[in-house]
Amino acid sequence: MIPAAGLVLTACGPSTVELPNVIYVFPDQYRNSSLGFWSDPEFAKLVEWRGDPVSTPNLDRFAREATVLSEAVSNCPLSSPHRGMLLSGMYPERSGVVLNCMSERPESSLREDAECIGDVFSAAGYDCAYIGKLHVDFPTKNNPQRPGSYVSDVVPEWDAYTPPERRHGFNYWYSYGTYDVHKHPHYWDTEGDRHDVDEWSPQHEISKAIEYIENRNAQRDSRKPFFMMVGINPPHSPYASTDDCDLEGYELYKDKSLTELLVRGNADTTMAKAAAARYYFANVSGIDREFGRLLKALDEAGLTDNTIVIFASDHGETMTSHSTADPKNSIWRESLNIPFLVRYPGRVPHRVDDLLLSTPDIMPTVLGLAGLGERIPASVEGRDFSAILRQDAVQPERPQAALYLRNLDGERDAEGLVRGFFPEARGLKTATHTMELCIDREGRLKRVLLYDDVQDPYQLENLRPEEHEALFASLCRELAVLLRENDDVWYRTRVLAELIPYDDMKNQS
Ligand code: CA
Repeated sequence: MIPAAGLVLTACGPSTVELPNVIYVFPDQYRNSSLGFWSDPEFAKLVEWRGDPVSTPNLDRFAREATVLSEAVSNCPLSSPHRGMLLSGMYPERSGVVLNCMSERPESSLREDAECIGDVFSAAGYDCAYIGKLHVDFPTKNNPQRPGSYVSDVVPEWDAYTPPERRHGFNYWYSYGTYDVHKHPHYWDTEGDRHDVDEWSPQHEISKAIEYIENRNAQRDSRKPFFMMVGINPPHSPYASTDDCDLEGYELYKDKSLTELLVRGNADTTMAKAAAARYYFANVSGIDREFGRLLKALDEAGLTDNTIVIFASDHGETMTSHSTADPKNSIWRESLNIPFLVRYPGRVPHRVDDLLLSTPDIMPTVLGLAGLGERIPASVEGRDFSAILRQDAVQPERPQAALYLRNLDGERDAEGLVRGFFPEARGLKTATHTMELCIDREGRLKRVLLYDDVQDPYQLENLRPEEHEALFASLCRELAVLLRENDDVWYRTRVLAELIPYDDMKNQS
């Protein structure tokens, strides 16, 4: 059958151009190693670390039809800052989302005037759908069901309703801010009506995505191609009991020992959190099943060949690695490295690439893949690497490093609201090393993390800068370039200028 979607008139001429549909699925806190295919020899030989012992048959099949990026980076590995970068193509200081969004942080919210990925697809003639977790808006008292109040009575409020004027081009809406009761989720639809659901949220969201693909209720304009983002919340915490997880997935892990499950060389199975691994992996396998259902629906609708499908996440999960209780917001691989799989039949070949894709690169790269490279807004700070994914004859220069950022709350005002942010750490990931510099509130160096990721893939040995002077100096030079290119607050205020040669760029590219 010939799909109705995909033909649109371009503004620049009488000819018709076939534009692909685009589906971007990104579970929350889904780490790159939690993909079963990393344990397959074809893939395992390409990375220095072990994949988690998870069952993800649908993603394994998908990976063999996709380009798999092994080193994609969530530069500020925290929910809202990642999503701000993903949607706008800008680093947090320009996207507006510098901290996780909640009612006491009025200065962290996606800029209403930012030209976001949905705005561009919409302007290019796409029908645009957003399903699931958004978490980029400062919650206000705009509850459509109870005007003048937040969407719940929780203090501070984290969840939010996103009104039409803040939806950035998405004309079909079935979403919420942030809410972590996986089996009783809720959503606001296009009209602002609220839906409370008693179903595991990934299952419900994939069903909504399938309805949209099938256009069962005329949700979309079938004459247009579509762009759909599905922000799934699990395997995000809580992951403490079967109340939180997919039961079918749980069967696969419930009898396994923690040492069988936590195989990374830096895992700490003595931590109380280690027991969460069974539930976390249960959710990973549940998401795989749901993702498989989505791909099947796409097949049955005859849309597979003309649809770009991407599977990614917003950041990783440490799951006891480095003995830290914080699942994210750190430079360690488990937190920084995200899955990134792109399938575009006939256009993007199956291969594994160690491209250091940064989060702000995602928007321009997706637009480039869809043939909309000329519409990438000037405000976008990331780069279009679609030519590398397609393996074009002419390709852009590959990035040598990706920037890492960690911001904490700034001071609170008399009303208890957070004003500004404290840029606690900056760092970088290169092909071979990871380095983070962390400061105290007076701007003095508090800690250095420095790892040789090739010799020490689990980042067990923190190298001492004084014993690796040339390496440390070279990484500081590289960090200076990244901070300057990104006009980061560390560059503007010359943080740790005694180490980072901000103004000595003579020998830098
Ligand atoms: Ca998150």
